[in-house]
Amino acid sequence: MMIKSEAPSEKTSKTMNKSKKKKSRQIWVFGDYRNYFQNRVTLQLLSKAAELAQKIGGEVCAVVFGNDIEEYIWEYTCHGAEKVYALEHDRLSDYPIETYVNLMEIFVRQYQPEILLVGATSFGREFTPRLAKRLKTGLSADCIGLDINDEELLVQTAPSFGGNLLAKIVTPKARPQMATVRPGIFQEIPHDNDRTSTVIQLKMPENLPRERVKMISSSKSPSRTQKIEEANVVVCGGRGMGSKTKFKKIFELARLLTGEVGATRPVVYSSWAGHETLVGQAGKNINPKVLFSFGISGAIQHTAAITNADFIIAVNKNPNAMMMKLADVAVVADANQICTALIKELRNRIRA
Ligand SMILES: Cc1cc2nc3c(=O)[nH]c(=O)nc-3n(C[C@H](O)[C@H](O)[C@H](O)COP(=O)(O)OP(=O)(O)OC[C@H]3O[C@@H](n4cnc5c(N)ncnc54)[C@H](O)[C@@H]3O)c2cc1C
Repeated sequence: MMIKSEAPSEKTSKTMNKSKKKKSRQIWVFGDYRNYFQNRVTLQLLSKAAELAQKIGGEVCAVVFGNDIEEYIWEYTCHGAEKVYALEHDRLSDYPIETYVNLMEIFVRQYQPEILLVGATSFGREFTPRLAKRLKTGLSADCIGLDINDEELLVQTAPSFGGNLLAKIVTPKARPQMATVRPGIFQEIPHDNDRTSTVIQLKMPENLPRERVKMISSSKSPSRTQKIEEANVVVCGGRGMGSKTKFKKIFELARLLTGEVGATRPVVYSSWAGHETLVGQAGKNINPKVLFSFGISGAIQHTAAITNADFIIAVNKNPNAMMMKLADVAVVADANQICTALIKELRNRIRA
């Protein structure tokens, strides 16, 4: 990979394919690299940005702030960023949100991207509305689709009315057109070491206001499910468990079986379980000897990741659910009742 470094004031040098394009309409992807999953959504957005850029004669740009960001500049380049706006500064570790918003506002006004995409991570959901308000532009949150229409506007597809309707939203006049996108919606393009990018080294503006909130300490939340890919027993729960409180039974059952917890996407999106438990296309592939599946319908995006399970026990109220057809043992019953009964039985055996 070759990286060209430029001062912000200088003209950017031409990259290989640029001469074919109508004009440079930049599509910016915000680099959220705080952990593996957040970094994945950045890569997924770079891939989508490349597709959109083709349609508008645009340029795919990543924007990355931080304290030690060399590896992310490299990674974004290898995943399709033609240009990387990078700002390295010791004030930028720990993702200080006010500083990030202040900086992004300044650089968006300076470089005027046509489109700005951000992952709908916890940070993205806090950061992006603040920025849109400052820039007086529209924002579609939690999009699940992006396209370009005949007027070369970004069509942002987002669930609305509690997910019952899909709204197609455009921002006709204000710029940039801004959207946050859920992780796992788009496929990242494969890593390619031979890609090149132009790196714009941004400078920390003078007199940038100090953060009003000071980070005193941070720690990773303890997770029991780090090794779900290697677990012999996985207890997987779906929306059919009914609520966050009831889903705790999945954790308890997994603990008693010395297994790991798995979850479907609706469960993760409802915050019944953490993202690290997600099994499926947007999460992890698992290979357990025994897989318990409680209240899971068996959508392909989930089942694609469990094909290596040796033995599947599914519990579902609906005997026709796809998960029941895949299971070695299919129990037509209430998932909560079966879960509770198993917990009781295991506790009794442990006590005995
Ligand atoms: C691009 C994309 C990527 C995706 N990636 C993933 C992914 O990685 N992982 C993933 O899981 N999904 C993913 N999805 C979502 C996927 O399509 C399904 O929507 C999801 O898997 C459904 O989750 P579920 O089975 O928990 O919920 P539902 O489909 O709502 O199923 C709930 C099930 O519970 C049963 N049930 C209800 N009440 C009870 C009860 N009391 N007792 C027993 N059973 C009950 C119902 O009969 C039903 O079968 C993705 C979708 C897209 C578009």
